[in-house]
Amino acid sequence: MARESGSPWAMGLLKTFEENEFGSWEKIGSGGFGQVYKVRHLHWKTWLAIKCSPSLHVDEKERMELLEEARKMEMAKFRYILPVYGICKEPVGLVMEYMETGSLEKLLASEPLPWELRFRIIHETAVGMNFLHCMSPPLLHLDLKPANILLDAHYHVKISDFGLAKCNGLSHSHDISMDGLCGTIAYLPPERIKEKNRCFDTKHDVYSFSIVVWGVLTQKKPFAEENNILHIMVKVVKGHRPELPAVSKSRPHSCNNLIKLMQKCWQDDPGERPTFQGKTLLILGVDAVNLCDRINRAHCMLSLVFFKEITSETEALCEKPEDETREMITQDLDTKNSPEQQPEVFPLSISSSNTLVKDYSLSELLSQLD
Ligand code: ATP
Repeated sequence: MARESGSPWAMGLLKTFEENEFGSWEKIGSGGFGQVYKVRHLHWKTWLAIKCSPSLHVDEKERMELLEEARKMEMAKFRYILPVYGICKEPVGLVMEYMETGSLEKLLASEPLPWELRFRIIHETAVGMNFLHCMSPPLLHLDLKPANILLDAHYHVKISDFGLAKCNGLSHSHDISMDGLCGTIAYLPPERIKEKNRCFDTKHDVYSFSIVVWGVLTQKKPFAEENNILHIMVKVVKGHRPELPAVSKSRPHSCNNLIKLMQKCWQDDPGERPTFQGKTLLILGVDAVNLCDRINRAHCMLSLVFFKEITSETEALCEKPEDETREMITQDLDTKNSPEQQPEVFPLSISSSNTLVKDYSLSELLSQLD
């Protein structure tokens, strides 16, 4: 374990790996930071994943960003958060647990999933996010999307990719490049599109979660019919959300509550969205008719406002009676046999016409619109 405190490689509890500890490198994905490889740890006799920078020469800024990501994942050790082991020195990369089933994005595009599994994935994602938001200060993920929700061999959730995550609830925004926006735009809340310099808060993640729920319910990609991301941004700012009819008609009854929850989570006003952890607010209002009146009658109005938290709602989904489960599984088998019910399979990359080389801020992008 590295103990070089003060050096850029000061690692705390994280381990520093050397390239020769790994074998059988196999590329399994790529994202904003670079490529992800499945590797065999030769001494540990286990499979791990390494996210490496694409550049041969990694500068100090990139190293620090990677270390930051590792530290955030280490702080957020939890059942539904991807475990991180440390940093590989050469090639520079983040060493993590390998997730056999890959990303939720890939799973949603593969075949119709049983409703029971879909509900469990949604609930585990909500519980993982709840954990992050319950940290002190809350850890905001800010890039929640199916590509960043990984699944182990038993289809249990591990939230990954803390590259954009922020530990401080009041921290200011970073610019998002056009490149980075392509797979992310549909998950960005309207307030973030409208106000580039807005402070981040937990409601950003709540909005992204609602779009993840829509994707799990429909097994489609949000706004897939739109090939211009600027149009998506304008639509979202105007209050449009992904289409509801795309949610299968053969859905179980309990889906209706989930749809209501999803709609609450994507409300335009962040204040109206529920929280993952829930809160009971005591609102004290004073009827200011006149001072004497108030003194004499202490005319106060007390109101208790309950926000049922997201995790309670999603937990209820996973506790349905056996009969409904059986009915749902039969429906799922039926849909598997009917070709019109097959979900669309979407390419994981988007057309190059949407990808600009220059980095633009959101306000620059919006100013290009008519
Ligand atoms: P961005 O970083 O731009 O948000 P991304 O989330 O797709 O993009 P990565 O976190 O780099 O980028 O991951 C890319 C893909 O690699 C994931 O979508 C997933 O399919 C795969 N992947 C990443 N980490 C693992 C892992 N630990 N185990 C298995 N597959 C992984």
